[in-house]
Formats: sequence, structure tokens, C-alpha cells
Amino acid sequence: MTDDASAPPSGNHPLRVAVVGAGPAGIYAADALIRQDDVPIAVDLIDRLPTPFGLVRHGIAPDHPKMRAIRDTLHRTLDHPRVRFVGNVDVGVDIPLEELRQHVDAVVYTYGAAIDRHLGIDGEELPGSLAATEFVAWYCGHPDADRAHVEAALAGVRSVVVVGVGNVALDVARVLARTADELEPTEMPQHVLDALAATTVEEVTVIGRRGPAQATFTTQELRELGELAGATVLVDPADLELDPAAEEHAALDRNVSRNLAVLRGWVGHIPEPGRTRLTLRFYRRPVRLLGTDRVTGVEVERTAVDADGRAMGTGELEVLPADLVVRSVGYRGLPLPGLPVDERSGTVPHELGRVFRDGRPSPGEYAAGWIKRGPSGVVGHNKHDARETVASLLADAAEGRIAVRGPVGDLVEELINRGADPVLLDDWRAIDAAEVALGATRGRARTTLHERESLMAAVRAAAARG
Ligand code: NAP
Repeated sequence: MTDDASAPPSGNHPLRVAVVGAGPAGIYAADALIRQDDVPIAVDLIDRLPTPFGLVRHGIAPDHPKMRAIRDTLHRTLDHPRVRFVGNVDVGVDIPLEELRQHVDAVVYTYGAAIDRHLGIDGEELPGSLAATEFVAWYCGHPDADRAHVEAALAGVRSVVVVGVGNVALDVARVLARTADELEPTEMPQHVLDALAATTVEEVTVIGRRGPAQATFTTQELRELGELAGATVLVDPADLELDPAAEEHAALDRNVSRNLAVLRGWVGHIPEPGRTRLTLRFYRRPVRLLGTDRVTGVEVERTAVDADGRAMGTGELEVLPADLVVRSVGYRGLPLPGLPVDERSGTVPHELGRVFRDGRPSPGEYAAGWIKRGPSGVVGHNKHDARETVASLLADAAEGRIAVRGPVGDLVEELINRGADPVLLDDWRAIDAAEVALGATRGRARTTLHERESLMAAVRAAAARG
């Protein structure tokens, strides 16, 4: 630290904040940092990928173009002169966290929860068993998606079981049940559209380990299943008979009562030849995945929900045949080397967004988004969450707990000296333009470039054109 260590931030020497993760949580945090007049701040918004937007790009299903349009609003923050997008930089790999911290006055961790939670049952690793995170990454064109693994699991599939009744499970079920014509206009990479068009899924069964009153999907997403061009939704009326405690819960929770109304509207549907059967089944928990060299089914145990809302096994077993099982039981945060992440919850210990090390707040370190609160909530929830964290940061700056360190080298120069290849805003614009141009060749608004190499080639091509 230099002589300026205790200097308050000023116009010439703003507080420099690195936000690690350019998904919605990071962008909302950057926005809250710059849209205030009390503390002059400059933000480096760092991402491991050459592209911004996190789960808005690689999580929101491509058949939800209106939800994806939130990119336009988020982009306004990227365009702000006090925000610098620094993509293609993996903190902990391209620069150790400790050294990043030397180059800035504060860090806000917003890198999300990137990996799947496990079921912890036999057969989970069989071919034909996919984590929803793998399938979603693939259909969204994430550069790290394991294309061969997902496409091998999809090949020739006729019947699918999706484990979990959250919104991600519905995304997975819906994408699998969509017709090729429905998916054609989306931003999915062409190989994804081709693979899905070649897959003749006849049956998708979504299973919840508890009842419909405990399902975490939201009504809009549920209702959409009933609007699919080539699928018929089926429910067992017996699953919708609730005990008095669940009825009471349903009456108090609008999402639950609306979900039940939608589900009850589907009772009596009959399967139609040539249409995919999309069945929602409750009170079934997976016990093991069956098969020797590939999944052939899921053994499930019937459950009952106890007074505390927990699933209790009844001992009654049943087999659901499946040649693909997608486990959609939530996301988990990854540790970043040098940052304390609770193994069990996959979140960073914090209070009001202030990161704790050894039981105490660590000055200049903050967290927001899923790595702070766990993988829940829709995109908009991150706004409030980021504001809470930024309020803590601003209070710490105002009270002298973090201060401008004085002149240290520019972060981007340092990264280049270390051999990294940072992607800045104009580079991202080049990628953006290349995706729009690629989409236009097939009459689409955009096609996602899914390989790191093609993303970087778009950057280099624009640089060569000057
Ligand atoms: P989620 O809503 O937490 O759903 C996870 C599901 O997995 C629950 O049904 C849970 O059941 C089940 N589960 C967990 N462990 C299990 C086990 N061992 N065996 C069987 N089932 C198990 O999470 P998510 O679907 O991954 O979504 C993450 C967040 O993103 C949510 O907040 C979601 O709303 C949001 N999201 C929103 C949209 C949208 O707005 N369109 C789209 C995608 C995601 P229990 O409840 O019994 O634990």
C-alpha cells in the first residue's frame, strides 16, 4: 500500500472496484456502484468468458426471447464510461485473487453458481444421465459445454425423465418437447437445432419428490407447457388431491394456488398419437438410475409429505422407463482459489454482502447474486440483492474502511503482461455483430457463437479490419 492508502476517493482517483462475474448480479452491482454521487467509483467488470450477461446468455432458455431481451437494459451499464468490461479473464487462473486485490480497492464477487448439485444415488454417472446444467449449457451455446457428451446422451432418445420441479426442470422439459419449427427462430447454435430436430422424443416425465403445493416452478412457466405445438400435458388427478395442511398452504400462496389451478385444468387430457406426452408426476423420489452401460430407467419411491413439508418414503417402489435422465435439482457455487466458499451451501460467508474471513468482515471484499444467497430467484431479484451489497461497500468507503490505494498499474495492462487476452467492450461488440450476421444468414435475429475460438476469431477479425 502506498502513502495514499488512507486517501478518500476523488474525481481524479476514484475508488477502483473489480466486479468478478458479468452476469446480471455483476451488472446490477456495477450499476448500483456508478449510479450514485457520494463516492467516485470506476468499475472493472471481469468475466471468465469473452461475453457478458452470464445466465441471461447461457441460462435463460433461447425459446424465451422476451426474457433474454433484458440484455438490452443490462447493456446500458456496460456502455457507461465508468464501467470497463474485461472479458476472457479467469480470476484465480489468469491472475491470482490476491494480486487482483492489489490492483483495485475493492472486489465484489458475483460469479454465480455454475455447477450442478448431485442426487447422490446409484447410476447417476451412467451414460444417458445428464445434469440440467450440462444440457442447458449445451443448448445455450456455452463455450465450456461438453458437446460430445450431451449429444451422445441425446442420440436416439424416446423417453426422458426430468428429476426436479423447479423452473430449470420445466425449461429442460419444454425444450425437449418443442417441435423443430418452434426452435428454428431461436438463438441456439445450428448444431443444437440439428441435434434436437433429429431427436424424436415421445415422452417426457417430470418428477417431483414432494407434492404440487411444494413445487418451485412459477405459474407462467408451468402454463406455457400447455401451449406447446406438439405436446400434450398429462397429470394424475390423484397427485392433485391435497391434505388439509397443503390446502391451507396453497390458499395462502398465490403462486401455489395458481399452479394448482393450471394443473387441475389439465386433468382429463388424453395422449394423442403423434404428440409428445409431457407428464408431471409428484410424490416420487429417485432411488437409483437403472441400466448397465446406459440408463434404461429410474427407480422411484412413492413419498408422502409430512407436517413440516418434508418428503417421507413410503417403501413403495416403481420403475419409470427412460433412455435419458436429466437431473434438475439445483445449482451450486464453485470455490474461487483464495476465496472462502462454504462447501455445503456453495455460497460465500457474508453479512449484508460483506465477505467474512475467519469470522470477521474482510475489508474491501463483497459478494452479490447466487454466490452470496444461493441459486434462487429470477434475474430481477439480483437488483435488490446487488443494492444491499453496494450499500455496505459505500458505507465502508464513507467510514474509511476502504480507501484509494494510490497509483498502481492498470489492471488490463497487468493482465496483458501476464499473457492474458482480455476482451474489452469494443471486442464484445465485434462478437455481438458477428452473431447477428451469422443469424441473418438463416433469417434469425442472432445465432450464438458457441466456441471460444470462434468468439475470439470475431474479435481478431474486427481488429484486423481496424
Ligand atoms: P429450484 O427451483 O430450487 O428447483 C430444484 C428442484 O429440485 C426442486 O423441485 C427440488 O425439490 C428438487 N430437488 C432437490 N434435490 C432433490 C433430490 N435430491 N431429489 C429430488 N429432487 C430434488 O432450482 P432450479 O429449477 O435449478 O432454478 C434455480 C433458480 O432459477 C430458481 O429460482 C428459478 O426460479 C430460477 N429460474 C427461473 C426461470 C424463469 O423465470 N423462467 C427459469 C429457470 C430458472 P424440493 O423442493 O423438494 O427440494
